[in-house]
Amino acid sequence: MSLAWQAAGASHVGRVRRQNEDALHVDARRGVFLVADGMGGHAAGDVASRTAIRTVDELVSAAKGGVDPAERVEQLVEAARRANEAILSDAERVPERAGMGTTLTVFATLPGVATRAVVHVGDSRAYLLRDGTLTQLTTDHTWVQRQVELGKLSPRRARVHPYSSVLTNALGVPETDRIDTVVGDARPGDLYLLCTDGLTTVLEDDTIQSILSEDHDLAGWARELVDAANQAGGPDNVTVVLIRAESDA
Ligand code: CA
Repeated sequence: MSLAWQAAGASHVGRVRRQNEDALHVDARRGVFLVADGMGGHAAGDVASRTAIRTVDELVSAAKGGVDPAERVEQLVEAARRANEAILSDAERVPERAGMGTTLTVFATLPGVATRAVVHVGDSRAYLLRDGTLTQLTTDHTWVQRQVELGKLSPRRARVHPYSSVLTNALGVPETDRIDTVVGDARPGDLYLLCTDGLTTVLEDDTIQSILSEDHDLAGWARELVDAANQAGGPDNVTVVLIRAESDA
């Protein structure tokens, strides 16, 4: 079955930060959607997140069409590696950018099949809402997630833990050693959410699920999620991308 894809995104500085170091990119024609959450002083986080998105977008745009799904996933992983290298070499060249880094979550449709891939580094997230149930597709590369896996913290306590935002892996960090890929089937009616931690540190999954169960279009859901994060204090930049699969009849 072939699918048609629609998407919308929104990003907001929040109510505390002075700069928005998140970045997003929506390319429904090529079926590639990205969010990145940059970090680093002197506006370097902004440079890191934009560099990641630009690097992936350029490589995806330059790639020839018609590649098979496995090849497409490998292209995306390679693009994330190149983004890592681009950020590292920029940080080496410009002293004020030393130590900058970024998360990266890429959602891509795969050619010719009802399948999608997520390529992921850091603590931004991809979710799937299917049949009314929200499921997190990615695993956070954070210290608290590691403690949850070891059985030392509950997911609920991890969310409010003082170290909740401490990353164990990001682009732009020399020891970046992990680029996750999550491949799965896609069905008509699937709603995917990509978001930075500015959303998920203030909204629980249940709240996100109930907002996505309201009657809106994609842009409306994006707006509602950003508003809800800001109503909850807006402590961080918040970025969301919503992607919906429809049957291409
Ligand atoms: Ca953030």
